[in-house]
Amino acid sequence: MGASRRDLLRWWGIATLTTAGSAAAGPPPRWQRLRARLHGDLLQPGDPDYETVRLPFNSLFDHQRPAAIARCTRVEDVQHCLTEARRADIRVAARSGGHSYPGYSTPHDGLVVDLAPMSGIEVRPDGTAVIGAGARLGDVYATLGAAGRCLPAGNCPSVGIAGLTLGGGIGWVDRTYGLTCDWLRGARVVTADSRVLTASADREPDLFWALRGGGGGNFGVVTSFEFATAPAPDVLTVFRVRFPAGSAADVLGGWQPWSVAVPEEVSSVCVVLPDGSVDLTGCAIAPATALRAEVARLLGAIGVDAPLEHAEVDYLTAMRIMTGGHPPRNAFRESSRVADGMWSDPAAVAGTLRGRKSPLLIVGALGGAIDRLTPTDTAYPHRGAPTSISVFGAVGDLPPERVTREVDEVQQELAGLIGTGTYINYLDPEQEDWAATSYRHNLPRLRAVARRYDPDRVLRFPQSVR
Ligand SMILES: Cc1cc2nc3c(=O)[nH]c(=O)nc-3n(C[C@H](O)[C@H](O)[C@H](O)COP(=O)(O)OP(=O)(O)OC[C@H]3O[C@@H](n4cnc5c(N)ncnc54)[C@H](O)[C@@H]3O)c2cc1C
Repeated sequence: MGASRRDLLRWWGIATLTTAGSAAAGPPPRWQRLRARLHGDLLQPGDPDYETVRLPFNSLFDHQRPAAIARCTRVEDVQHCLTEARRADIRVAARSGGHSYPGYSTPHDGLVVDLAPMSGIEVRPDGTAVIGAGARLGDVYATLGAAGRCLPAGNCPSVGIAGLTLGGGIGWVDRTYGLTCDWLRGARVVTADSRVLTASADREPDLFWALRGGGGGNFGVVTSFEFATAPAPDVLTVFRVRFPAGSAADVLGGWQPWSVAVPEEVSSVCVVLPDGSVDLTGCAIAPATALRAEVARLLGAIGVDAPLEHAEVDYLTAMRIMTGGHPPRNAFRESSRVADGMWSDPAAVAGTLRGRKSPLLIVGALGGAIDRLTPTDTAYPHRGAPTSISVFGAVGDLPPERVTREVDEVQQELAGLIGTGTYINYLDPEQEDWAATSYRHNLPRLRAVARRYDPDRVLRFPQSVR
């Protein structure tokens, strides 16, 4: 069930590095045929924009060189790509924001179905938003916010709405509003056999269910989404508390019960560093007075003195602040755990970083509105989980192998401390049992949907649903 090492190496182009230049040797007929059919451009090695457009967010995968990148400008372009991929048995993957942790939207020697040009965002008078699959979160927040509307989404402005939604979508206001996928009302999908379908509660309901948490890259290529939205809240308070080195056990011990007991309007994340310091950041849909009272309770429970920094702002400003500070690209390994319930040993959770150089823990509160749906209502299975922990290792001074090893070791230890669940949007290519831990009880139904909509596995990749 795990992605085999050979599958991964082939996908990443490591097993075929010696043939990396083959795509540039002259366009085979299949590319000429596709180029002639597309309204958008088809970029290949040697074309002026190829070297920049091909790059994924995670620069660890920069060596992956697609044979062609189809800059799709309309649904028909996506249909032509899938027809060609099917006919010539070409490795093919959709790309929206390009933030796949393992670089799955950049198939080596394959075809990238690049949705970036299809990034329009329309807010209708009834508040429904129709969003092109190529849109990034920064533009989604800005356009919806300017129209006075809110869609809960993720914490990095360059992440694509497509990958985020298809895996669930956790973010700064999810305890109030739920996951991004919970607001999805319909999606336009090109299936592997190049049919164009609309998936919604009434049409293709199994596909619609799978698109809400079943993970990007499976079942078909979404070209646009239709979301319900909420009125944007008027007043938010963003906040931050920096705790000193060595305080992580106390902070997590106080934060965990607090994070689930606070009103749903308060979301928070603890970033735990290897020296045991903690950076607590959060966002409350509440005025500063209310937030200050909640944080005072937390600081009392923790018993460590640390100053509260905060600002009362409007919705758009809050989203700008909370999604700011990300680099345009990064080199990293990341893995995750989703807690089964409350963890009994916060000191041991903090202690997973002891003696390690690279990883940090990003411990986020879930619950609230996320749990208004049941674990089978959508393909996202972790309803009821109080927290998730990402284990993040930046590849900088340390070699990637060391970072990968440390991230994996911490992730393994966390399984025994908080639970074995993992979040599909934080896919870890090194993890053997990823499908069972990411999809849990929903895996058999997801497999049935994948068999029905992509029986020939045209959209396969090392960690696709199969
Ligand atoms: C810096 C950073 C911050 C993040 N923050 C958050 C966060 O706050 N909350 C959260 O939930 N997640 C977060 N993520 C994880 C993110 O949600 C996933 O990596 C997501 O898959 C990225 O989507 P994308 O469209 O940017 O990526 P892509 O690489 O374009 O796509 C990801 C996967 O989906 C497939 N795919 C892309 N477009 C389509 C499409 N139109 N139809 C079908 N399949 C498609 C791709 O083939 C690939 O397998 C973050 C990731 C990064 C790198």
